[in-house]
Amino acid sequence: MESAILLKRITILPMTRAEDLLEGDLLIRRGRIAYLGPSRDWVDEDGLEVYQGKNKVAIPGFVNAHTHLGMTFLRGFADDMDLHTWLVDKIWPMETKLRPGDVYCFSLLGALELIAAGVTTFADMYWSMEEVARVVTECGLRACLSQALIVAGKDHPERELEGGLRFALENRGAAEGRITTMLAPHAVYTCPPDFLKLVREAAIRERLGLHIHLSETRKEVEDCRIAYGATPPRLLRNLGLFELPILAIHCIWPEEGDFSILAKAKGVVHCPTSNLKIAAGIAPVTKLLSSGSNVALGTDGACSNNRLEMLQEIKTAALLAKTRTRDPKALPAFRALQMATLGGARALGLEEQIGTLEAWKQADITIFDFDAPHLTPCFDHYSHLAYAALPSDVTAVMVQGRWLYKNRRHLTLDRPSVQQEAVERVQKLMSR
Ligand SMILES: [Zn+2]
Repeated sequence: MESAILLKRITILPMTRAEDLLEGDLLIRRGRIAYLGPSRDWVDEDGLEVYQGKNKVAIPGFVNAHTHLGMTFLRGFADDMDLHTWLVDKIWPMETKLRPGDVYCFSLLGALELIAAGVTTFADMYWSMEEVARVVTECGLRACLSQALIVAGKDHPERELEGGLRFALENRGAAEGRITTMLAPHAVYTCPPDFLKLVREAAIRERLGLHIHLSETRKEVEDCRIAYGATPPRLLRNLGLFELPILAIHCIWPEEGDFSILAKAKGVVHCPTSNLKIAAGIAPVTKLLSSGSNVALGTDGACSNNRLEMLQEIKTAALLAKTRTRDPKALPAFRALQMATLGGARALGLEEQIGTLEAWKQADITIFDFDAPHLTPCFDHYSHLAYAALPSDVTAVMVQGRWLYKNRRHLTLDRPSVQQEAVERVQKLMSR
């Protein structure tokens, strides 16, 4: 008998519609959801693991739709400054000291944090991405990976593209299908139009999507208009990039004509905490939603957030949308949670596999323990998850039906040794 896992008498939030919440059983076979419905008597079969669901709440694993996982080494290194100063004076000089083994170790550190906070899928844009792919393979997470392409000031931009393309082609479908890949031109201020045209041709030829920071600051929009006579979304549209599946990160400063362009993206990724911390602005989320955009949520890197977990993004997104529109109904709890689950899955083109709990979807599941003072009493599970729950309330996490975390313990990674190595590597890197 193949092994199976039964989540018994558990509260299930499928995240399809708010009213689909149920108390019942969820059976996982061969990594997929085989049954989800009212509790019933199961035949006591060999290899059936029964997980008791008392006070437990199962939801689709969170999708962190934009991060730079390896940046965990710079958490707290450069705070309280604007994007340009932060990036040019602080971050990029430190990142030139990174060696592939460092990216591996610091990404493991990030993976520990993602898993313990109930994130099961992340979209990453960074360097030495082979190392990040190795981390994904080992830790059991699902990921959409892309090598960051920054070519401004470089002599041979085509070599950048070759590297990013090679990574994308060699790694798509890796880790038992958990890895998908994209091309990631970093932004319009680091990738000129001629290069973006090359990226477009390669992406069309190889059927790859794009991952790009877009309209993050006013300066980016103004500089783009001066240099190319168009806003960043219009520049990309004019270059034909919106004909491809595109993951548009931030989109804080879209102008009137930009909304219909952004509606064509697979996802606009809202990173509210990072945006607030860098004082980049507040994205017009309700207007993006009403004009047809699929909005997902991301944390961005650990040194602009400074966490990688999604509950903070869900709550901050909901609060900001309400404040920006002066309407408390602007982004209700269920809708904000949906952005962090189904919205993320759609943004990454994975909605057929993950993002909701439904029969035959992949069993990527996060389980919260609601036996806590700040979750008692419970009138509304969506409200508690969006506004009251903490990442430490996550008690178990699985991807493809494999436990990565159970009873608040990591099962695929050795937390103490990863943390110790990270500290040692940071000390060496700083002295380089
Ligand atoms: Zn970013």
